[in-house]
Amino acid sequence: MAEVKTHTFDAVIVGAGGAGLMAALYASKSANVAVISKLYPTRSHTGAALGGIGAALGNVGEDHWEWHAYDTVKGSDYLADQDAVDVLCREAVETVYELEHMGLPFDRTSEGRISQRRFGGHTNNETGKPVPRACHAADRTGHMILQTLYQQCIKNNVTFFDEYHVVDLIRVENTVRGVVAVQISTGEFHIFHSKAVHFATGGWGKCWEVTSNAHSLTGDGAAICLRRGIPLEDMEFFQFHPTGIFKLGILITEGVRGEGGILLNGQGERFMERYAPTIKDLASRDVVSRAIFLELQAGRGINGKNYVHLDVRPETVNYYFEQAGDSRRITKEFIEEKLAETVDLGRTYLGIDPVHEPIPIQPTAHYAMGGIPTDVDGRVLLDVQNTPLPGLYAAGECACVSVHGANRLGTNSLVDLVVFGRRSGVHMGQYCQETELLPLPENAADEVMAEFERIRNGSGGVKSHDLRRRMQVAMMANVGVFRTEELMKNALEELRQLRLDYGRNLQIDDKGKQFNSDLLEAWEVGCLLELSEVTAVAALARTESRGGHARDDFPKRDDENWLKHSLCFAEDESYRLDYKPVVLGRYQPKERVY
Ligand SMILES: Cc1cc2nc3c(=O)[nH]c(=O)nc-3n(C[C@H](O)[C@H](O)[C@H](O)COP(=O)(O)OP(=O)(O)OC[C@H]3O[C@@H](n4cnc5c(N)ncnc54)[C@H](O)[C@@H]3O)c2cc1C
Repeated sequence: MAEVKTHTFDAVIVGAGGAGLMAALYASKSANVAVISKLYPTRSHTGAALGGIGAALGNVGEDHWEWHAYDTVKGSDYLADQDAVDVLCREAVETVYELEHMGLPFDRTSEGRISQRRFGGHTNNETGKPVPRACHAADRTGHMILQTLYQQCIKNNVTFFDEYHVVDLIRVENTVRGVVAVQISTGEFHIFHSKAVHFATGGWGKCWEVTSNAHSLTGDGAAICLRRGIPLEDMEFFQFHPTGIFKLGILITEGVRGEGGILLNGQGERFMERYAPTIKDLASRDVVSRAIFLELQAGRGINGKNYVHLDVRPETVNYYFEQAGDSRRITKEFIEEKLAETVDLGRTYLGIDPVHEPIPIQPTAHYAMGGIPTDVDGRVLLDVQNTPLPGLYAAGECACVSVHGANRLGTNSLVDLVVFGRRSGVHMGQYCQETELLPLPENAADEVMAEFERIRNGSGGVKSHDLRRRMQVAMMANVGVFRTEELMKNALEELRQLRLDYGRNLQIDDKGKQFNSDLLEAWEVGCLLELSEVTAVAALARTESRGGHARDDFPKRDDENWLKHSLCFAEDESYRLDYKPVVLGRYQPKERVY
């Protein structure tokens, strides 16, 4: 085997999105920390988050963190762990102020406070009406969070390894010793030897054909953990966001509906009035996505096509405000300022101007509710007894703590990143102070290097982009907004065939070392295939409908049998499921009414 460079740190954090940077900032206060990222840090997907970060500041009307907690639990269809939700919603408030003090340029109210807007599922618990809870910087909130945190990390001397692709976790029994990475520019392998490892690698929307997710969101961290004996939790729950640009999947933020935008079907009807009479277009995402799907299925798309309209033209919005006795009015200038990115997306990708024309939209695969199981300090858990694996941490979209349960509310991911990024960073920093560096096992990189050689030298004629496309089509058609046993069995059959092809017949064109994206993307497809299969296996087993998991053949939620989290383990080329109870608290499960 070729020479492998070794670096030593107390802790390595894989991923430089909001979760990784927040963890790095806090861990670096008490430990020597490296952040490894396959992308240049500020290109992480957190930078694409538009609409806002949820916190019950109460700046624009009464609000309480307990209301936020109730909405989160209700939105989760009662699958979220309520102890973790309390931490999320309580600490959201101080964390948003902390971001403000770091210099994040939030939009302001006329009194100079952080401005807040409405978002789906966030309510005044007494009236059931929408409450403005999403703090935002125009519709570039994630971009601002990422820039702010990156600057803070640089200021605090965090060491960055940009464009290094982590491909393995070094685990020896129940200890971690570091990770293996490929330096993208040279193709060389590096070992990062450490006391602790933290995964903050983001989601895996690229399992589906129509997705809001960036090209790089291939679930590497979750797949690496799965391969190293760590289960994945609640993988059957993947959120479809209701408003992706038709065919392209590019996200139109929920902030558009928060500012008054409404959904119209081919008959010009505001159909959400039928599905969620109180909160209408601002019902939680699973509810709105299913409503759109049903409208399309009934032939009520625009001109019979597979999309509906999202209308934010001032004349439409003001008409509905007037109808509802809402004193708000919007103007063209207001939209251009508050939803600048959205207006730009319409002009760039559709050639339409959202202030003059409605936007064609369809549901788009958006967010992984499930992932690497953790406790509220980001410690990764190994089994249904919640046994932690010392030194291994995860936070952000790749993790499942679980605060989103079966369906995440808008704005709750950004707050999850900073709250649990911070907590895991603090815990990991302390852990490093109390722990000795354990020796590296011999030839720690050999196994994954051999796998890369296999991919590089394969000659079976099957291209990884073909496998990727077939997987995406199968997942979209069969493990999408609505699911049935038959559909999911079809998906599993196709996925197993694709996995066989991946193992036996893969062939890449670029045999070189430097910037070999062909090779690295082929390896990423391996991750996506495994995560797709785990998703389908867990979804097939869950014979109920809950949150983002909607089954035509089991349309009701079944608390008696299914108020529990799934854990999926990889064992001998197949997957085993186990279950653990949901942590309940103040809120007992009841029917969701919007
Ligand atoms: C278009 C869009 C809009 C959104 N809007 C909102 C919103 O308004 N509010 C909200 O709350 N949520 C929103 N979300 C969701 C939210 O943005 C994401 O869930 C969140 O940003 C994920 O952050 P993260 O830190 O977990 O990972 P990411 O920001 O995705 O970062 C992942 C990091 O991991 C690194 N990485 C991955 N694999 C490897 C590897 N193998 N080796 C090395 N590095 C690796 C990447 O380089 C990157 O730095 C939105 C999502 C999208 C896609």
